[in-house]
Amino acid sequence: MNGGFAGGGAGEGVATPNWYRAPMRIGAQVRAGKGLVPALERGAAMGAEVIQIFTQSPRMWKPTQYGPEVLGAFRSARRQDPTVTATFCHATYLINLATPDPELAAKSQACLAANLATASGMGADGLVLHIGSHRGRGLDSVLPHIAAALIEVLDGQELATPAGDRLPCPILLENAAGTGGTVGRSFDELATLLDAAGKAHATTLGVCLDTQHLWASGIGYSSVEEADDVVCATMPDEFDAVGQVFVDFHQVSDDEVRDLLATPPGS
Ligand SMILES: [Zn+2]
Repeated sequence: MNGGFAGGGAGEGVATPNWYRAPMRIGAQVRAGKGLVPALERGAAMGAEVIQIFTQSPRMWKPTQYGPEVLGAFRSARRQDPTVTATFCHATYLINLATPDPELAAKSQACLAANLATASGMGADGLVLHIGSHRGRGLDSVLPHIAAALIEVLDGQELATPAGDRLPCPILLENAAGTGGTVGRSFDELATLLDAAGKAHATTLGVCLDTQHLWASGIGYSSVEEADDVVCATMPDEFDAVGQVFVDFHQVSDDEVRDLLATPPGS
């Protein structure tokens, strides 16, 4: 898992985002544990520079309630930890912002808001979200609902975060594997969503690229040229509203990690 960021700051004529040339940070998915701080300790113990955690069971609706003291303890532990430099949370798998079912849509939005409140309270760097499935109805028919839900949840976070207290946590839309009616299967779909929802929240709505899902969707990155194409597809002129890009390398083998570490960025 690579916690690289694009601040949307790559200027015109720049071939790749700034973070592409930055040293890669390697991380891992870790268990949250009671009180959240154990996640940092587990990450630090394995030398992870980035961690990703589920703050509640990913296959249950019931949110885990964390008191302000627990969230505050995590923030101060983060400040003191020299190893883990970025923390990402992953939203619950049950969330489906593209559903035609109004009850499920309401449940999904409430769950996303709860997940984001926790991530924000922890001072997390992003909340990764699987957008959901339109079940064959087509993206156009569900786009306004998805955008409205994202905007409402992000508006709610802004209202709940005292000014100057801490930075709001971005929602990072994850690219989906290419099956059924899942939303976010292509860069075009992600760009459309960012356009629709990101205007008002340009710095708090971004993208998480899951390399396993890229592969399943037929987007290759096995050569340097293909990987460059993937990175360039996340440039601001493609993703107008992109504020953050988090590249989430899934199922990378030891050999691949060695190759990545041995390859100078940009070569
Ligand atoms: Zn995911």
